[in-house]
Amino acid sequence: MSLKRVTSAALLAILLAACGGDTPEAQANLDIDGTPSAVLPTIGSSGGELSNVEAKRLFGAKSHGSAQAPAPYGGYSKGCLAGGVQLAETGSTWQAMRLGRNRNWGHPEMLDYIDKLSQRAAQLPGWGGIYVGDISQPRGGPMLTGHRSHQIGLDADIWLLPPKSLALSRAQRESISSISLRRAAGAYVNESWTPQHHQLLKAAASDPRVARIFIFPGAKVQMCADETGDRSYLRKIRPWYGHHYHFHVRLTCPPGATDCTNQAAPPPGDGCAEAAQWQKNILNPPPPDPNAKPAKPRREILLADLPAQCKAVLDAN
Ligand SMILES: [Zn+2]
Repeated sequence: MSLKRVTSAALLAILLAACGGDTPEAQANLDIDGTPSAVLPTIGSSGGELSNVEAKRLFGAKSHGSAQAPAPYGGYSKGCLAGGVQLAETGSTWQAMRLGRNRNWGHPEMLDYIDKLSQRAAQLPGWGGIYVGDISQPRGGPMLTGHRSHQIGLDADIWLLPPKSLALSRAQRESISSISLRRAAGAYVNESWTPQHHQLLKAAASDPRVARIFIFPGAKVQMCADETGDRSYLRKIRPWYGHHYHFHVRLTCPPGATDCTNQAAPPPGDGCAEAAQWQKNILNPPPPDPNAKPAKPRREILLADLPAQCKAVLDAN
């Protein structure tokens, strides 16, 4: 394949991602954002003069978790987190990266998940554990930059770079970059992909608490081709845009978290045919649908839009 072809395919993938419309990709846009949540009562005008303030400004300004019992409120892309707990900057089998962002806060269930996954990783040749990217802000909620999801302490990004050291300084954790594992705009894995990546993703998806794992399409296609054992975990591994420097883990709402909105489960089956279709569309982008409706511009989430409980989360000590 010529470089020119790869480049135009990549460009088209980006355009499709940005435009939406009625393509399967656009329908799948519900995937990473989560299905529209069950309707929870929102803050509305009870937030007073803050109601019409962009929620990201309020939640992005919080430096520590709320002194409340841990509880995710709302959905992955419209919610907040009470009682968020900070992931230790360094554990025996992990390091939290980019500490300056202060996004190493999560629900205790997520922190436990990360601990267990990192122990599994430490058993893989060449991996002493994992580097952990963004989880959530101290009180969750929308962020000033980056993710739309990661709002309720149940999403986490795990780097695809095997840790060479788990004794990195703060400065090193700001400067070191992960590696990209993709080739041909995500249609394939590149030469940095290893069987250990397969094993790590398999372990990550096999924890029953996991709702979905997002990774670039070529990785899923490769895993579908290489898996000779149980394939049931593949259902949770979902092809998505980006996600070639890290994979994204999403946990289901913990037991008892009644005001946390789960996403509909992925379609039944291993999802390998769907991943193959993503790959095909990257390599041979379908012509744009002339009847596609232009995507609605996204409106900023205001404090008023968040679940009612998020007011107390914001106001708590
Ligand atoms: Zn993520």
